[in-house]
Amino acid sequence: MSPRPRVYLLSPKAYPPEVIAVAFAKTSRSPEPFDAIAAELNADQSRRFHEKWVVGYGHASVAEHAVLHIAVEGVSRLAMEALEAPRLASYTEKSTRYQRWQDDDFVTPPELVGHPAEARYRATIRHLVRTYQQAWEPLRAAIARRHPRREGESEARWDRRVRSRFADVARFLLPAAAVANVGITINARALAHALRQWLAHPLAEVRAVAQRIKDVALTETPTLVRYAEPNAYRAYLQEDFALRAGAVAAAERFPPTAVHLAHYDADGEVRVLAAALAARARGPYTAYVQHVAGLSAEARRDLAAALLGTRGPHDAPPRALEMAVTTWDLVMDQGAYYEFKRHRMMTQLPQALGVDLGYAVPRLMREVGLEDAYRAALDMAAATYDHLARTLGPAVAAYVVPNAYNRRVLAHMNLREAFHFVELRSAANAHFSIRRIALGMAERLRAVYPALMAHLRVPATTAADLEAAHFAALAERPGPAST
Ligand SMILES: Cc1cc2nc3c(=O)[nH]c(=O)nc-3n(C[C@H](O)[C@H](O)[C@H](O)COP(=O)(O)OP(=O)(O)OC[C@H]3O[C@@H](n4cnc5c(N)ncnc54)[C@H](O)[C@@H]3O)c2cc1C
Repeated sequence: MSPRPRVYLLSPKAYPPEVIAVAFAKTSRSPEPFDAIAAELNADQSRRFHEKWVVGYGHASVAEHAVLHIAVEGVSRLAMEALEAPRLASYTEKSTRYQRWQDDDFVTPPELVGHPAEARYRATIRHLVRTYQQAWEPLRAAIARRHPRREGESEARWDRRVRSRFADVARFLLPAAAVANVGITINARALAHALRQWLAHPLAEVRAVAQRIKDVALTETPTLVRYAEPNAYRAYLQEDFALRAGAVAAAERFPPTAVHLAHYDADGEVRVLAAALAARARGPYTAYVQHVAGLSAEARRDLAAALLGTRGPHDAPPRALEMAVTTWDLVMDQGAYYEFKRHRMMTQLPQALGVDLGYAVPRLMREVGLEDAYRAALDMAAATYDHLARTLGPAVAAYVVPNAYNRRVLAHMNLREAFHFVELRSAANAHFSIRRIALGMAERLRAVYPALMAHLRVPATTAADLEAAHFAALAERPGPAST
């Protein structure tokens, strides 16, 4: 008789995270059930196990079974970029759409406290925040006129329906110093890796928050994160490659191209379709490559339709799409980048936040008569950025840069993630800044992979339509500050 399956939880209410990790790890050598193993363990035995196996012999995956939920509050959105960089973790944070920033919701970074530039920095942040706050009601009123409350519609329901239309515009003025809260769920292995990067980060705020995170993590996982020390190699790379890159003459970078498909697998469709067949067959992959490469365009379209055309609304595209990769040189406003960075199933290499790629002007800002005030605030931010970059370096200067400024990011992703990103972020409820990027990517993908991308589900609008509808300008060079 075959044994009856047992399925149960090793609950964190019953066992500390490090004990759970050891209970799972011991199944490798012990025939005992997990709960019996866990019942025999205590914190001290678990510590010794982790010291020997995880730390000593490098059986590091054991630490993935110890999971922490870390609440982080009052951290700048600039520091948040570092905290959210690890891909093997989950995050949820304060939304610029559903919350409104108040006068004191901004960080003065430790590097600036007591520095001669502190007063100028604070004045600039204050000015940006005031402009953001002053814009809120006129933007809201303009949207209310265009989208009045329906009969019987409650204030709350109407607000939910239209809020994105004005909050998404006001947010362009929020600087990277704006504070946010984030909930992080992360396993101890990923956390130890992240701590090494965070503790060596160029920003003092990130290093200080990292130390706090390490301190609180030590109370639950005393062994698994104990040896996380600053990663000197990362710090070296940061400095050395900034110097090397500075010596390379780059092509003219203004005005920036929003969506450039820098590289794609020319035989991507063949690879994907061949992999889809090979995964369900017995022969070698190359045989199916040869078969698909020999198909007519029509037969290839039919095969792609069979693969993707029957996908239900909640079905992810199949893994075979991971066989083709694309590399993108993207320029988007910082608000869009802040959302883009949350996509973990791709490689992202963002350039530092600065002001040299210019700023976007949302059309609604012009329509409500606030364009001059908006531009003046952004010009002031750029002048303060330049001053801070000269005196304290570009990393600290980035705190003063608002969401309106453009940011370049190199992104590398397979077609499965491209499907996910483009479909999610081109949807009508997404912010127009990121929709524009997603739609631009959809257009390029369709040009190079017509059979597969015929099944990409995107709204019937183009990036150019969206830009015309929502932006008065996409990349304006900052002028001299007048405020
Ligand atoms: C309408 C909308 C509102 C949003 N509001 C907020 C908000 O208020 N606050 C906020 O913080 N974020 C918000 N987000 C961001 C959102 O929570 C995601 O972080 C972001 O969209 C990235 O999407 P993803 O996790 O699906 O994709 P990716 O990270 O690109 O991953 C691709 C896919 O891989 C899988 N995957 C990746 N990592 C994991 C994992 N760790 N566990 C399980 N599966 C995984 C999932 O299937 C996922 O869809 C919002 C997004 C949308 C679209």
